[in-house]
Amino acid sequence: MSSNITKPVSVVTGGAGFLGSHLTDRLLKEGHRVIAVDNLITGNVANIEHLAGNKDYKFINHDVTDFIYIPGQVDYVWHFASPASPIDYLRIPIPTLKVGSLGTHNALGLAKDKGAAFFLASTSECYGDPLIHPQTEDYWGNVNPIGPRGVYDEAKRFAEAITMAYHRYHGMNTHIVRIFNTYGPRMRLDDGRVVPAFIGQALRGQPLTIFGDGSQTRSFCYVSDLIDGIFRLMMSDFHEPVNIGNPREMTIRQFAEEILRITGANCPIEQKPLPVDDPKVRQPDITRAKKILGWEPKVDFDQGIRETIEFFRGRV
Ligand code: NAD
Ligand code: UDP
Repeated sequence: MSSNITKPVSVVTGGAGFLGSHLTDRLLKEGHRVIAVDNLITGNVANIEHLAGNKDYKFINHDVTDFIYIPGQVDYVWHFASPASPIDYLRIPIPTLKVGSLGTHNALGLAKDKGAAFFLASTSECYGDPLIHPQTEDYWGNVNPIGPRGVYDEAKRFAEAITMAYHRYHGMNTHIVRIFNTYGPRMRLDDGRVVPAFIGQALRGQPLTIFGDGSQTRSFCYVSDLIDGIFRLMMSDFHEPVNIGNPREMTIRQFAEEILRITGANCPIEQKPLPVDDPKVRQPDITRAKKILGWEPKVDFDQGIRETIEFFRGRV
């Protein structure tokens, strides 16, 4: 009998992306077989090339807004497919709406058909430009549905709604994480998010581009901490949304100064216009994750940023 028969099988949509590929590595370490489903619209085969030849890993190039066909056993469906960077979802707004709505419906349908547990990668963007701070899971958010970011925020809010409906109506074992800004190796250098943007600029000796006056805040979580929280949540019996993120909050100007300090670069800081509906503050309240999952972030900011810089250093 092959040992594969007894291994749990995980399907990871968006498995060639930044988070999907790190999740895959963790699942393989936990003894799962992994089937990644990705159409590579924002993903990168370089994120998964180390898995070539791994008998417990399979890649399927497929758009999950179309019916997802996976033969055989599936125990866990992790739905991570979706553009995540603002410049990506502003460039491809309709595929973003479709993967959050039709893609989530198809991924839920797959999990239901297989009797599998389902996991939705949702986002702090569900809180929009928040009016309460820090954000707790019981806050319903302040989202502009017709603004440029609405294509992402509302798709994710719909995804949360349909996930809860499948849980309540079909009795499915579902989980929802609200991910706050996460960074680490395998982000695309040109994906426009502030971490690769500032590190890339510092390493090239270019001005760091602060949008607006830089007083808006974000709270940055290192990828291994995030993946650990996500794994714990899937294995829990908790079905309502859980924030996972690092509560260490800073302004974007402070973040730029930290990048200059850690890289040792001597670049000027340059101001660019603030994008429409850019949230002014963002910080997770992680009381729920601590209580229910026994989780809190462990990787300190300097260490996480140094690991990320090392990854980008050879790529600029
Ligand atoms: P990413 O762009 O690196 O990865 C997304 C992956 O999904 C890519 O590989 C892309 O090709 C794939 N994809 C997109 N549409 C698809 C479709 N229709 N069919 C199949 N594959 C498709 O982004 P990421 O940072 O890894 O984000 C992963 C998930 O986590 C997303 O759902 C995102 O909304 C969520 N999230 C991420 C963050 C973060 O800080 N990274 C924050 C909040 C939420
Ligand atoms: N930002 C910036 N300069 C850049 C890229 C982003 O000042 O080159 C700002 C952006 O306006 C936002 C914050 O950094 O206030 C985080 O942006 P990101 O795109 O990483 O993700 P968001 O948290 O907005 O989804």
